[in-house]
Amino acid sequence: MLNIHRPDHSELFIDGQWQPATGGRTFPVLDPASGEAVAKVADATPADAQAAAAAAGETFADFAELTGVERGALLLRTRDLLAERLDVVARIITQEQGKPLAEAEGELEGCLEFLEWYAEEAKREYGLVLGGVTKSKRQLVLRQPVGPVALITPWNFPAMMIMRKAASALAAGCPVVAKPAEQTPLTAIALFEILDAAGFPPGAVNLVTTSRPETTGTALLDHPAIRHVPFTGSTSVGKQLAGAAGLRMQRISMELGGHAPWIVFHDADVDLALAHLLVTKFKNSGQTCVSPNRIFVHDDIADEFANRLAKAAAGIVLGSGLDSTTQMGPLIDESARTKVGEHVADATSRGATLLTGGEPVRRPGYFFAPTVLLDVDLDMRVSREETFGPVAPIRRFATEDEVVTAANGTPYGLIAYVYTRDLARAIRVSEALEFGVVGINDNRPGSVQTPFGGIKASGVGREGGRDGMEEFLESKTVSIGLP
Ligand code: ADP
Repeated sequence: MLNIHRPDHSELFIDGQWQPATGGRTFPVLDPASGEAVAKVADATPADAQAAAAAAGETFADFAELTGVERGALLLRTRDLLAERLDVVARIITQEQGKPLAEAEGELEGCLEFLEWYAEEAKREYGLVLGGVTKSKRQLVLRQPVGPVALITPWNFPAMMIMRKAASALAAGCPVVAKPAEQTPLTAIALFEILDAAGFPPGAVNLVTTSRPETTGTALLDHPAIRHVPFTGSTSVGKQLAGAAGLRMQRISMELGGHAPWIVFHDADVDLALAHLLVTKFKNSGQTCVSPNRIFVHDDIADEFANRLAKAAAGIVLGSGLDSTTQMGPLIDESARTKVGEHVADATSRGATLLTGGEPVRRPGYFFAPTVLLDVDLDMRVSREETFGPVAPIRRFATEDEVVTAANGTPYGLIAYVYTRDLARAIRVSEALEFGVVGINDNRPGSVQTPFGGIKASGVGREGGRDGMEEFLESKTVSIGLP
């Protein structure tokens, strides 16, 4: 029987063994809906991180020798075990991260889809056989796994950010070491208990939880066995890790911050745009890299749109994610809440109109009221920095050219959303927007079969689809002379 998250089992998983951190140090995990500690987990040292990387390095050759069918079967077993325990793991997510249970379950259902997709893709290792240039040679291009991978993941999607990366890396034949965010190690422990139970060979899947990402994380990435660093997190940490990876000549894929524009033209289905915005803006309390941060609404419809959004936002039910009536949970911690308050204060002090919310909610935990601002300008902090909170800043626009220029006027380039019924406009605007993903009348454009990722300061590389697996494969040319 699988023991998901016993408090006495909150350990590191290295080389097929659950073990305490060297020296026995632990760190607390808080419930953001109450601010109280719910568990203690092992606090890995740099030596533990190096041991995990070494284990991944030692198993690499054997793991890469498994057929794609064999690796796919391990991923399918992982999917089945996670499906059986979905409700238990969802509660763990909610307890340490705060999102409502329904969102936690949705995140895990997404993990099941990625596990299944990459289990299938594992079988499809297509190389090339080349001829035609000369009669004296045949040339093969083999696709081989890049090597052990160190996953560095954030707290906002504590399961998906690990599983999307791990499923594609493992499918390609790369052993993994995961270092989850210090706020959400319990979800990672639950997932690795499932990976362990699925039967991956020792060293193929490793987990190091730590409260000291700078030292322990650096020790992990510094190990010579690590050949690829898939990272999701802030642009500032991503740039730092990318620079260090460059010096080690490691591969990277970086899914960094976003500053998504949400553009509503006067010819849009306004009811649809509003319904989608309400979900996508306040999902996970606004703590997502795909959150609409700059909402551009055509002059003709801006007042009505903003007022309707404010009315709906004011009706969102806040509470513990474990309560079935809750529609929005807390922010992850006090510093996140302070930043949201500062962004709102900056906007209102410079002339934006507060239509609803704008304040922390007086109750235990880190709650902030759903907030709608009208007439923000492009210099305000809400327009330039990721707020990562439940704040919808609206700006009016008059012309298509003007809004496309404004939407592109950010260092970020992850995702953009456009609402229009005009087909030609939809095509023109989606081609002109400088973002890795564009949703046209679609607030959930990501899927298992399509590549997800950004350009500019939003990162490099893609997760999902065939591209997500290519990240973990190298091309090797074998040239055969025919004397
Ligand atoms: P966020 O702002 O979403 O918390 P961060 O970029 O701070 O994002 O963190 C994302 C992940 O990066 C977390 O797992 C965190 O522990 C890790 N991290 C932060 N700094 C470092 C570092 N210097 N080396 C390795 N990992 C790090």
